[in-house]
Amino acid sequence: MDKIVSLAKRRGFIYPGSEIYGGLAGTWDYGPLGVELKNNIRKAFWQSIVYERKDVVGFDAAILMNPKVWEASGHVQAFTDPLVECKICHQRLRADQEDEIKDHEKSHKGQKVTWTERKKFNLLVEAKLGVVEDERTKVYLRGEITQGVHVNFKNILDSTRLSIPFGIAQIGKAFRNEITPGNFTFRSREFEQMELQYYVRSEESESKKWYEYWKQQRMDWYVNLGMTRKKLRFRQHEESERAHYARDAWDIEYDSPFGWKEFEGIHNRGDWDLSRHQKHSGVDLTYFDQESNKHYLPWIIETSGGVDRAALFFLIDAYTEESTRSEPGSRSYSEPGSEDSAKRIVLKLHPKLAPYKVAVFPLLANKPDLVQKARSVYQLLTTNYQLLPVAWDDRGNIGKRYYSQDEIGTPYCVTIDFQTLDDDTVTIRDRDTTKQERVKIEELTDILESRLQR
Ligand code: ATP
Repeated sequence: MDKIVSLAKRRGFIYPGSEIYGGLAGTWDYGPLGVELKNNIRKAFWQSIVYERKDVVGFDAAILMNPKVWEASGHVQAFTDPLVECKICHQRLRADQEDEIKDHEKSHKGQKVTWTERKKFNLLVEAKLGVVEDERTKVYLRGEITQGVHVNFKNILDSTRLSIPFGIAQIGKAFRNEITPGNFTFRSREFEQMELQYYVRSEESESKKWYEYWKQQRMDWYVNLGMTRKKLRFRQHEESERAHYARDAWDIEYDSPFGWKEFEGIHNRGDWDLSRHQKHSGVDLTYFDQESNKHYLPWIIETSGGVDRAALFFLIDAYTEESTRSEPGSRSYSEPGSEDSAKRIVLKLHPKLAPYKVAVFPLLANKPDLVQKARSVYQLLTTNYQLLPVAWDDRGNIGKRYYSQDEIGTPYCVTIDFQTLDDDTVTIRDRDTTKQERVKIEELTDILESRLQR
């Protein structure tokens, strides 16, 4: 984990939030590479959930909503975690996080630790809106992005031609006053969710069918984007653990350096949300089913993933260290301890997720002909949308440049050398195999494009 945290900072994936002011617990800022990684996760989600389907539309709600929304949804009353306080040092922890409780007890080295009674701690983050001091309205920063969708159920139905079953997808920020933020970005106080709310006929069998379907779809999505299957599992929530709205809940968990951890939840929300909003707003939110000629409140199957947790687990899963030392006697052998014999760090990210798709290098930075030619290849590649963004590097020796791109997951490096000036060919070097091959510049874009689509 330390290696990931340090790589993330050193190479510009993730920095601690407000660092120069001593930070702000539970907040993180995404650097030039982190923003690309997160954009790629969002794009891949949108592609598979919205663009490749006829039954799902996209949506983007305001973060701030009328506080009545959160009363209706049950969050003001029930969006709580159990909190206990250590009677020795007064640190507050989540009572249901057994590992953290044990670690804390150990930190008191032999002293018997006692805890206060569990009390319910509400996670909603409050803010104040308005310009007159005493009349400012208390609002909440949304604790989940879901509610914005359900309160717009009627708007979306009235403005589209959707019929049940259909879904509404959304990606956006959520805020929770987590008792113990930690494990890098895993538990943050500000984070992003990518969700689908899928409305189905209000029948047990129908909801079960779609529930199983979406569980599988979401698991496959992570696997197709390169996550190691055996590091993933489903885990069903015990009844006592389920959120107040859930009839059934399963998590997709990853075998992380800090244990099996949830990063996506699939929930059968029944008609909880629509019935509550119908009751509290007084607006009819029923769906008219033309087939059965009936009005009813549909049930909701929700898939709720964390963009930040997915980014973290994609990074952890992709992180690889390989020894690069070859056999003594072979031409590429370097003495142990020399720079070239060091291990190679490779982020084996799926090309769709890699922050840079391609890097372009002139073999030598002090040969104007090579640099000029390399610039023209760089320009050529940047005209192709599929290959963006393209990295440029002309510092140090070529081996170091390859390693530098390996460490951030760039799938292909293109080098312009002296032969390029003679015959208009360049080398493509593959991140995972480190093999190089020579291709014609006129074919370069097509070759890269087809390989990146794997
Ligand atoms: P946990 O039990 O870890 O607190 P949760 O069950 O409360 O998570 P959900 O309410 O189901 O989480 O939220 C759906 C997804 O949103 C989670 O699977 C996770 O990816 C993301 N998420 C929730 N809380 C956080 C957080 N504090 N930091 C980062 N991501 C989060």
